[in-house]
Amino acid sequence: WLMLSFLVPLALILSTIFQSLAALIALRGLHLAGSFRMAWVCISIALFLMVERRLLPLWHVYGGGREDPLNTFFGLMISVFMLAGVIGLKKLFQQLRANEEELAKLAHTDYLTGLNNRRHFMEKAQHELSRALRYRSECSILMLDIDLFKVVNDTYGHHVGDTVLQELSSYCQKTVRSVDILGRLGGEEFVVFLPETGDEKALEVAERLRMGIEQTPMAHVGDQVIQVTVSIGLMSGGREGASLDELLDFADQALYEAKRSGRNRVCQSRSLT
Ligand code: GH3
Ligand code: MG
Ligand code: MG
Repeated sequence: WLMLSFLVPLALILSTIFQSLAALIALRGLHLAGSFRMAWVCISIALFLMVERRLLPLWHVYGGGREDPLNTFFGLMISVFMLAGVIGLKKLFQQLRANEEELAKLAHTDYLTGLNNRRHFMEKAQHELSRALRYRSECSILMLDIDLFKVVNDTYGHHVGDTVLQELSSYCQKTVRSVDILGRLGGEEFVVFLPETGDEKALEVAERLRMGIEQTPMAHVGDQVIQVTVSIGLMSGGREGASLDELLDFADQALYEAKRSGRNRVCQSRSLT
């Protein structure tokens, strides 16, 4: 009995601690629960209410009463499993959240360059264009295409071509503002959406990009430095109410003009301005 009279209060104290921990962990995991939020709120409340089930017997023993050892033992086991279960659930939510973020990232980015892929670029650019149309502000689109890129692939191999695409992407990323939206449309074709930027400023940006790319080594093969040039088509809009597809079409026509007139240059579409 002496043994039991020592063990029973100890088990009751431990039960109360484990139960409270389970309730606290549940509460602190609320922000992770996402669409299971309501269920998780209910579990948290239930766990908090169950602390009382552990406290009452303790109170009873403290007042000189006797507790059933078997009951106490089961109470302790329940609290231990509650705690382990809640820790497991919280980890599951954490894992789900991480997977969700990873999936979203994969769905939005181009695997080779890490830039926005075409679909995500279109979404972001459409969002910015709608804003420009609402506030009657200007915006511009640059379409870039690497000049004679096939030659790079044919001469040095596809692998070197890939490195050039990656280096050029990170160069563009460093050069444009953080508010600008950069995307890889496919192959060796890139696009930049410049919010709050009229045609004169956009021309400056395009020229800066073109000259910077021309002067930047994009890959090395032995002692050979590989450099490329780009042709850029520019189209500005926002005030005239042209759609994103129309702006991209005009930028594409300007890009074609830049290619046709000798490459490594910027051409501006004047169709709407
Ligand atoms: P232009 O100046 O007229 O644009 O000539 P170009 O050679 O750049 O144009 P073309 O459309 O003939 O060739 C594009 C090349 O881009 C062909 C293709 O093999 C290469 N390419 C497209 N995507 C990739 C890629 O992901 N990696 C590599 N290494 N090459 C790619
Ligand atoms: Mg090309
Ligand atoms: Mg091309």
